[in-house]
Amino acid sequence: MKEESGSDRIGIIGGGMGSISAAIHLIKNGFNVTIYEKNKNLGGRANIIEENGFRFDVGPSLLNYPWVFEELFEAAGENLNDHLDLIKIETGVKFLWDDGETFSVTSDYPSLSEEVSRLENSNINGIQSFLKINSIRYKIAFEKLLNTNLNNPFKWGARLGLRELSSGSMFKSMYSDLNKHFKSKYIKEAFGSYAMYLGGSPYKIPGFFSILPYGEIAYGLWMPKGGIYSLIEKLESLLIKNNVSIKKNYEISEIVVNQKNEVKGVINNNGNFHPHKFVISNVDLATTHEKLIKKKYAQDFEKVQMTPSVMTFYWGIKKETKFPHHMIFLPNDYKSCFEDLFYNKEFSEDMPFYTSSPSTSDSSLSPKGKSTMFVLVPLPITEKNNQENIYSKDINKIRDKILKKFNKHNIDLSKKDIEFEKVLTPDEWKNKFGLYKTSAFGSSHNLFNIGPFRHRNKSSNIEGLYFVGASTNPGTGLPMVTISGKLVSERIKSDIS
Ligand SMILES: Cc1cc2nc3c(=O)[nH]c(=O)nc-3n(C[C@H](O)[C@H](O)[C@H](O)COP(=O)(O)OP(=O)(O)OC[C@H]3O[C@@H](n4cnc5c(N)ncnc54)[C@H](O)[C@@H]3O)c2cc1C
Repeated sequence: MKEESGSDRIGIIGGGMGSISAAIHLIKNGFNVTIYEKNKNLGGRANIIEENGFRFDVGPSLLNYPWVFEELFEAAGENLNDHLDLIKIETGVKFLWDDGETFSVTSDYPSLSEEVSRLENSNINGIQSFLKINSIRYKIAFEKLLNTNLNNPFKWGARLGLRELSSGSMFKSMYSDLNKHFKSKYIKEAFGSYAMYLGGSPYKIPGFFSILPYGEIAYGLWMPKGGIYSLIEKLESLLIKNNVSIKKNYEISEIVVNQKNEVKGVINNNGNFHPHKFVISNVDLATTHEKLIKKKYAQDFEKVQMTPSVMTFYWGIKKETKFPHHMIFLPNDYKSCFEDLFYNKEFSEDMPFYTSSPSTSDSSLSPKGKSTMFVLVPLPITEKNNQENIYSKDINKIRDKILKKFNKHNIDLSKKDIEFEKVLTPDEWKNKFGLYKTSAFGSSHNLFNIGPFRHRNKSSNIEGLYFVGASTNPGTGLPMVTISGKLVSERIKSDIS
């Protein structure tokens, strides 16, 4: 085993957004950092495909809560606006149903209330009460719950406040929460569909998460010019500027622990040992436990509920399209589609899916006169981590369903218009990024897996081992893993002092 120097550095396994954020906060606190990334790029799930003049974001396609990223740049001593041009996606998200109904959710209040009034028999009281209550919750979430390392359920409950506790928003479902404000099934289904990314059905995920659609309405949807990956590129240049050592194409196979249960360092798959007193794993938490830690220390994730897997399509389109930037196609039988996805683990014939057409907002993402489209189809995860995802072989069937649906909605796009196609199956997602049971967004956010109940960012039995990213606190999505990076660096700092 070859030993490399650098034990004074903190080693981070994986170079996803959580890792990048942790590295920036650690440097700010005077630490030296080395990042080990198994792929050729940093960014993890926020990655890039560049082909034939088309530029595609691999995973995240919508950016919310821009101030979280502004704060990250500030932590690195920089101003985000000097590096990135954030485009506001004025059209928001358009929801479509097979019966021809649509609902466009935007942060432009007059347009939104017009849409709501159309679906709620000229009544906009519901949207007003929805926005009011969720603005309070949102403040609680960002000011009191998400930004600090909170391990104690009582302290967490106290911060949530009596009003929220007694309202039952943590114990009642998102759907029943939405029911209080809206009569229209279309509005309830659209807002409730955000539960999918949190890893549950809107009939089970806590009502408090109505802050997700609220957040998009109140603060808008954004995309950096050049796509989401531009954010990663700029942050990587800041890491280099701040002397973070970045080893790419460098897969770690083991976190080494001594007899006293202390971290000693990491070993890569060629047997090189790198000593570190502190190691942070950005690899999905369940995969870290299953693959990188010796069995005697590892926690069992078998029963932890995970978010769904995804099949994603990247299409370079021969013609210029001006489709709405974000569209979500919801099924007729909404309830049973969630049951199939999460509990029956079956492919729903009337599957929901999401499309992003980023070249509508930024023509630099495709050659002149052409356009790009990204399609995300949620699929059930595998029962066991070592199983193949059986839906991986259904690419043609799934593509046909998407195109058929377009046809139904008079969206002028057929197979002959697609000049370039790349598909990532659930198994490819899993293998490329180390995702547990093919789960695309990490562990889910049911009541028993949020706040102090979610897996902590510090190992309970290995001294010096920490975690960052989607499956630890506060949760999934680029803004949350960015906050997760700040939290883990604060945790290490307070453990040392
Ligand atoms: C299809 C899709 C769409 C999404 N859309 C959005 C969106 O629109 N907006 C949003 O905010 N969020 C979105 N998300 C969620 C968001 O992408 C994730 O929550 C976030 O990127 C996760 O970051 P992370 O740092 O936790 O982990 P990751 O991005 O998974 O990073 C972990 C890194 O560890 C590396 N790694 C794994 N094993 C090893 C090893 N053994 N050695 C070294 N390196 C290793 C991986 O290659 C990876 O780079 C989406 C996710 C997906 C999959």
